[in-house]
Amino acid sequence: MKTDKYKRLIKQRILQTMDTWSSQPAVEEQDIHRFFHNLKGTCGTIGLTEVEKYSDQKELLFSADSHKQCVKEEWEQHLKPLIALIPVEIEPIGLPEAVPNDIEDLDNNRNRVLVIDDDVDFVAYVKEFLEKQSYPVTIALNAERGLKLFYDWKPGLILLDIVLPDKSGMYVLNQMVEKAKQGHIPIIMISANVSIENQIHAYRSGAMDFLAKPFDVDLLLALIDNRFAMKREWERSIVIDELTGAYNRKHYNGMMQQFIANYNRSNKVFSLVMMDLDYFKHVNDNYGHLKGDEVLQAFVAAIHSLINQDEDILCRYGGEEFALLLPNKDSTEAALLLDQIRERFNAIRFQAGEEHFHVTFSAGVTQISTNNSDTEKLVEEADQALYSGKRSGRNQTIVYTKELSEIRYDSFLNVIIVDDDPLIREIVINRFSHWKPLNNTKVQAYEYSDGMDFISSDWYKEDEKYIIMLDGSMPTLDGLEVLRRIREHYPEQNILIVMLTARNNTNDIVHALQIGADDYVVKPFHMQELVLRIERLASRILS
Ligand code: GH3
Ligand code: MG
Ligand code: MG
Repeated sequence: MKTDKYKRLIKQRILQTMDTWSSQPAVEEQDIHRFFHNLKGTCGTIGLTEVEKYSDQKELLFSADSHKQCVKEEWEQHLKPLIALIPVEIEPIGLPEAVPNDIEDLDNNRNRVLVIDDDVDFVAYVKEFLEKQSYPVTIALNAERGLKLFYDWKPGLILLDIVLPDKSGMYVLNQMVEKAKQGHIPIIMISANVSIENQIHAYRSGAMDFLAKPFDVDLLLALIDNRFAMKREWERSIVIDELTGAYNRKHYNGMMQQFIANYNRSNKVFSLVMMDLDYFKHVNDNYGHLKGDEVLQAFVAAIHSLINQDEDILCRYGGEEFALLLPNKDSTEAALLLDQIRERFNAIRFQAGEEHFHVTFSAGVTQISTNNSDTEKLVEEADQALYSGKRSGRNQTIVYTKELSEIRYDSFLNVIIVDDDPLIREIVINRFSHWKPLNNTKVQAYEYSDGMDFISSDWYKEDEKYIIMLDGSMPTLDGLEVLRRIREHYPEQNILIVMLTARNNTNDIVHALQIGADDYVVKPFHMQELVLRIERLASRILS
């Protein structure tokens, strides 16, 4: 480390301070305290041990919170000896850049360090040191600026001094700690004031570490490296499926949005692949769930060994269904990659006791275009291709084409919720809009907030099947009345009706059953219970 530069800088700063103070009638006692306090921290760090010891003693002579006015005679005698303690020639050196000049830099903001500390020499030294280690650093010399940069510059880690000129570091900590937690941003307190109380207070308030000034910069570097590594692991674990190591749905959703935005902005093509293991239930049934888990892990490992993990996104979509996002590949290229994956995975010999077995998978591929540039459409196309692969023999990749969208489903099941409670409607729609009770059944979910809206819509198509959930009490037309009209005007065999009744009233329930309800659920109900009943009814109506 080239520390002479900093020794010069400090010497110059001391002279400047003396100049400034000389031009004032008096100096507040607390300012003198802070001057020595800061000097102690910096000098310890850059190896000016003599000055550090000297400042340590002087700091004690002045109170940290006294506004008492000190005239020149009172402070000069304490500052003057410092000059001789720093044996370097001084030359003018500019102030460190306190304004972030690298916002536009290509640094990814993940390893940005924000240093909030009013000790100019110290922060300049730390900044230069950390930037040599490729950590972009921005400095805030006071609390207000620190908070502003925290929001605007979005650092990945914060070094925070406790003694600041405007507000205390503890105040800053309290202001940022919630948001820092959400963003997994470690806050490291740095202070020469290492009282146990201060440290306890800092940890209790959510600081991650407490580093006493002066410290060795290599220690700081090790701590920062460690904390960034922890942060990466932390962030990774949030987006990774534990069992298989593939990404989870949350990450996939985010990446899908990004890829679509990229496409809309700069026409960057990508493909989506949906994959589902063939006859996976047999694996579980014949060899146990642990063996099944092993197959899932082997499937992911095989894919990981053939994709570019820096760009391609493999996600566990659910159970034994996986989605693969392939940037810069059209569907033909994607299908070629799938051939390689198929070859590798099918070759794996699984062993269970004496037995050996192989597992295959089916895949559906689609590529983004102007007609399908939203998540729903892309997934639907890849799904259609996948299920057509399942129907026509499994163990194959099908690329989506328009013709596939005209496939004939054996049956259409409409799940309809009529309820004035938007939350219940949302849960039902989310749960059932992607539901696949049978491969050849297309499920569609519809919602109505009011009985009148529903009954006067053209909801009914011959040849389709219906499960209708009716809220018992609704503003304009209540559930019993809707039920009566359905049973009066539509054929019974394709329509199952579930009453959702808040009135735990036996008469109402009996009445509903008499005029043709198939089932009822009393509110408030557990969603799981409703789902189970709908699934049971579905198997009845679809069989
Ligand atoms: P198909 O070829 O039509 O896909 O037949 P399949 O037997 O694979 O049918 P389906 O996709 O419906 O079966 C999925 C099975 O995967 C059901 C479920 O028990 C099993 N499964 C889901 N998640 C896990 C898991 O984490 N571990 C294990 N061992 N099994 C799982
Ligand atoms: Mg399967
Ligand atoms: Mg499946």
